[in-house]
Amino acid sequence: MSAGTLPRSLCVFCGSSPGRDPEHLALARTLGRRLATEGIALVYGGASVGLMGALADAALEAGGEVIGVIPRGLVAREVAHPALSELVVVDSMHERKAVMSDRAEGFVALPGGLGTLEELFEVWTWGLLGIHAKPVALLDATGYYDSMLGFLDSAMAEGFVREPQRGMLIAARSVDDLLAALRGWTAPTVTQWVTSRER
Ligand code: AMP
Repeated sequence: MSAGTLPRSLCVFCGSSPGRDPEHLALARTLGRRLATEGIALVYGGASVGLMGALADAALEAGGEVIGVIPRGLVAREVAHPALSELVVVDSMHERKAVMSDRAEGFVALPGGLGTLEELFEVWTWGLLGIHAKPVALLDATGYYDSMLGFLDSAMAEGFVREPQRGMLIAARSVDDLLAALRGWTAPTVTQWVTSRER
């Protein structure tokens, strides 16, 4: 992905539940539609339930390309989406995340639960380690993630999270903000875990 352009594919992590606030579903649909109209392929967890299903349906309805990646053991539980452009059935959660990461040029987390958080923090830390050089963003219109962002700021103040690490996470309130941030994103130089002064 070069500076000033949008990624050609985005991996979106989001809840397998719809959440209580209908704004979350509305945001998932808006993002799905917009990815399709921008010609950005959607890579996601392959489910037809919750925000995941709403996101995929909206992208498909708008003519987008949607690639689902789901572990065999979750095909029934998360009701694998029957009408995707491509459904990749893998053997494990680890393989799911590796395939999703390989197939996307950037990552976005919408509101979600433990699975979404786990996926977000993994790709964020992979970025910090230099395993990938792709943008990682949160998209949240309601403030669902505000207390988590506040916690991350206090973790930085406590000296456990470094400023450049914290700064790598894009936080967007709307799909327009998200796309603008992705257009302006440039790959960081790899952050060192330990500086020479601290060694
Ligand atoms: P949730 O945010 O908990 O509703 O889950 C969203 C998605 O994350 C679902 O497709 C879950 O299967 C998936 N998920 C849950 N735990 C993990 C994990 N450890 N690794 C990868 N995906 C997970």
